[in-house]
Amino acid sequence: MNRPIYLDAHATTPVDPRVLEAMLPYFSDKFGNAASKTHAYGWSAEAAVELCREVVAAAIGAWSPKEIVFTSGATESNNLALRGVMEAAAPGSHLVTTAIEHHAVLDPARHLERLGYEVTFVPVEPNGIVDPIRVAAAMNARTALVSVMTANNEVGTIQPIAELGRITRERGVYLHTDAAQAIGRMAIDVDRMGIDLMSMSAHKIYGPKGVGALYVRSRGPRVRMVAQMDGGGHERGLRSGTSNVPGIVGLSKACELLSTESRAENERMRVMRDRLYAALLASVEGVALNGDPERRLPGNLNVSIAGIPSDTLIGALPEIAISSGSACTSASLEPSYVLRAMGQSDERARSSLRFGVGRFTTDAQVERAAELVAAKVRELRSAADAGTLGVARRG
Ligand SMILES: *Cc1c(COP(=O)(O)O)cnc(C)c1O
Repeated sequence: MNRPIYLDAHATTPVDPRVLEAMLPYFSDKFGNAASKTHAYGWSAEAAVELCREVVAAAIGAWSPKEIVFTSGATESNNLALRGVMEAAAPGSHLVTTAIEHHAVLDPARHLERLGYEVTFVPVEPNGIVDPIRVAAAMNARTALVSVMTANNEVGTIQPIAELGRITRERGVYLHTDAAQAIGRMAIDVDRMGIDLMSMSAHKIYGPKGVGALYVRSRGPRVRMVAQMDGGGHERGLRSGTSNVPGIVGLSKACELLSTESRAENERMRVMRDRLYAALLASVEGVALNGDPERRLPGNLNVSIAGIPSDTLIGALPEIAISSGSACTSASLEPSYVLRAMGQSDERARSSLRFGVGRFTTDAQVERAAELVAAKVRELRSAADAGTLGVARRG
């Protein structure tokens, strides 16, 4: 049996063979604990980790490798950024974020709210982009942190981070951004964009699962924050726990590949994504694009198909690995909260499909996927016409 066509690159990506090759020695030969200071095993592991810190720092324009804190992924990085900064700020301080953040930001924000901090969830425009004026208007004298994702994981919209950076810098407030989807897919420079904290994840960029990083600015301004994991004082005291050396090597190799290849790769992905959209428009009635047609990730296509609930369609299409939105909401019958926050109807939010084109996607796969979707929609609609399925016929 053929494996399903993988078009879910927002959920995760396969480890690039070159990344795996770079990691392998660190599971066996080079197994040392990077914190062991008394022998060569430790020294060589530490040297590898420090080299990776330089590569990751360079990839995002960080001034110093010391500004990179290795973590278990973007969820941990987001938690560390939000809780760590707010805990170091005055009691009752204010956090500004948006309604379309990943759960790994929304949930820590709600947690902070329960702890007595004030949180504002700024709404977004119908194209999924947050208006910096609304963010500025939401800020008050007690605002300590603004957290806005660089690019959204459902509709791929790219947020005006540089503009937000100017606003936050002017007011002496830290800016955090969850860049898990954005790394490598667009130019990111923490200085130019005025970013003070930034979350990354290796498994979204063809690295391994379970490793990521948080960028924490050390000067102009120096970020004051409190560790959320205490122990041996690893990562300059900000994240205790024995370093995941093979994972860190994988993250670094993944960043290195992006720095040389992402420009051409993004162009290739954009062309395939546009071809997929064109094929769906030509063969399926009632296809509507969700998000912004221009300001979005090159591999992202999010559409709603009128009258076709996404769970019905996805369930009927085992040949394609796609989702309706974030991995969490697609498992339930809840419509996408991202589309709802963009002002879309429940029905449209329930009929959303998220396609994620990636590094290893081929033209043939994209073409085949469009054909399969078109055929299945036709089948579901004629069944609906015959009254055998609860799917509304729509034009
Ligand atoms: C995948 C993702 C996360 C979670 O990252 P993990 O490394 O899996 O914890 C957080 N934010 C965004 C925007 C993501 O796409």
